[in-house]
Amino acid sequence: MQLRIGNGYDIHRLVAGRPLILGGQQLDHPDGLGLDGHSDADVLVHAIMDALLGALSLGDIGKYFPPDDPQWKGSDSLVLLEQVVALVRERGWSVVNVDSVVVAERPKLKPHIEAMRAAIAARMDLDADQVGVKATTNEKLGAEGREEGISCHAVALLQKG
Ligand code: MG
Repeated sequence: MQLRIGNGYDIHRLVAGRPLILGGQQLDHPDGLGLDGHSDADVLVHAIMDALLGALSLGDIGKYFPPDDPQWKGSDSLVLLEQVVALVRERGWSVVNVDSVVVAERPKLKPHIEAMRAAIAARMDLDADQVGVKATTNEKLGAEGREEGISCHAVALLQKG
């Protein structure tokens, strides 16, 4: 059996007038902020996609879904995730698990974690216990701490054979 590990990271700016979508869930920010981006700016799903692509050295999501390509404008990132998982499976690999941590001061993510895990697992055709989603604040430090943005780190383990 072969194993591969991949690492993914993403950050998007918090701005007014945009929805806040994380793990496919639309959340309410106390100041009405949302994540800016060409797609739905779902940093959690983007970091997971980059971890999956990274595990097979397939590049990053910008290569498959270029931000200057109008066809991905406003994209549901879960749909893009399905495409990335298909790419992985086409090459004969399966996903053992993914794990992630979202760095956000607000809103409280804990009430939404199970829904995020379920939504991501469903699109990846995995069980929810193969999808780890954790959340932390940045203790008011740095860009995330000042609520200039929300970031996410993810890892993915793949197996073949
Ligand atoms: Mg992104």
